[in-house]
Amino acid sequence: MGLQALRGTTDVLPNDVTRWSAVEHTARRLARLYGYQELRTPLIEDAALFLRSVGETTDIVQKEMFRFEDRGGHEIVLRPEGTASIVRAYLEHNLHKTQGFVKLFYLGPMFRAERPQAGRFRQFHQLGVEAIGSDAPWVDVEVITLCVHILRECGVTDAAVWLSSMGCRDDQATSAQLLRERLQPDLAKLCKECQARFEKNIFRVLDCKHPTCHEIAWKVKGSPFVLCDQCQADFDTVRRGLTAANVPFDDTKVFARGLDYYTRTVFEVRAKGLGAQDAVAAGGRYDSLVEDLGGPHAGAVGFATGIERLLMAQTATAPAPSRRGLYLAIAQSTLLQEAFRFVQQLREQGVIALMDYDGKSLKSQLREADKSGCRFVAILGETEMTQRAITLKDLEQSSQQTLPFDTFVATVAQQAKSRECH
Ligand SMILES: [Zn+2]
Ligand SMILES: [Zn+2]
Repeated sequence: MGLQALRGTTDVLPNDVTRWSAVEHTARRLARLYGYQELRTPLIEDAALFLRSVGETTDIVQKEMFRFEDRGGHEIVLRPEGTASIVRAYLEHNLHKTQGFVKLFYLGPMFRAERPQAGRFRQFHQLGVEAIGSDAPWVDVEVITLCVHILRECGVTDAAVWLSSMGCRDDQATSAQLLRERLQPDLAKLCKECQARFEKNIFRVLDCKHPTCHEIAWKVKGSPFVLCDQCQADFDTVRRGLTAANVPFDDTKVFARGLDYYTRTVFEVRAKGLGAQDAVAAGGRYDSLVEDLGGPHAGAVGFATGIERLLMAQTATAPAPSRRGLYLAIAQSTLLQEAFRFVQQLREQGVIALMDYDGKSLKSQLREADKSGCRFVAILGETEMTQRAITLKDLEQSSQQTLPFDTFVATVAQQAKSRECH
């Protein structure tokens, strides 16, 4: 038995990379459209970053982080999510002083040591945005709208937005007390973890995947969060904004985001293909995180979506890519050098150009040309060499023309570009 990829990790083979890069390309393009700039952070971080941000009582920190000591005895973590690293970078590079309000986009692998199951991986990939340095509820509207826009253009057409407000830290203290009173009669029925969370982090009960806890949480009628006047007014603005942006949402669902840093607006995007409990994207406000990590007060809001989940939730498949490029087949291997010269000139003109180097028969070269999705096929043989002209077949248009050697490259380049958008 040969070596295999570790459980919970996958190789993305060339055929699948097409779908992946379509998602990445769409997300980058839309993020730019909304004014978000890409930021790349390292895959490894100081463990303390996640203890102080995500929260010590969360599943991520308690059970799911890949954590190890390096040779110098430093506690290192493979990043389990993107937000904490982005905020660390925001502070480390003084973006709060030089730019104030920043809108950032990120994309890359994240790592969680959880039990591999459908749609969950030990190395998974997320893309997301963080808008840091504003308390304005319109930024929440923009972030949610961008999230839905990306999902829609990536072919997730049945996305449903669940929207709620968890209130500010003061509101959360009040809400926690009220929620404890409401759940007290069912305390004994909650799972062990939720019983332990009852005092420290009661909102996690709303997020617990344990069926009994889920059922008890769903009995909570109406929002479990009590909002102060400011939080209520901001939440109303978010709802009005989403209505103006034509983004449908459901604000009647009882849910909470499980990470400690969330405040005020929280949202999840559900897609039918993923089953009842899984969100394809999620996010919200985290107004205290910048301060918690040693910075000034800076309101912030963001979202993340898992690329593997997004691909599972796709309902509309992308159209098959159109035929592109040229395959130059040769009648005998003595013409290899002549053919390679053409192929290289085409590549320098920006045309995908393929050929065979292994002396395959003309028939199998033509089969390969068809399989490779090339739009043009040309055959170079003794006749062509004598006549200094080559026949170009357009597989898409089912047409053919004979071109002199001198104008061959320029004509192909022009025709390829005039009908190809990339
Ligand atoms: Zn409040
Ligand atoms: Zn539970």
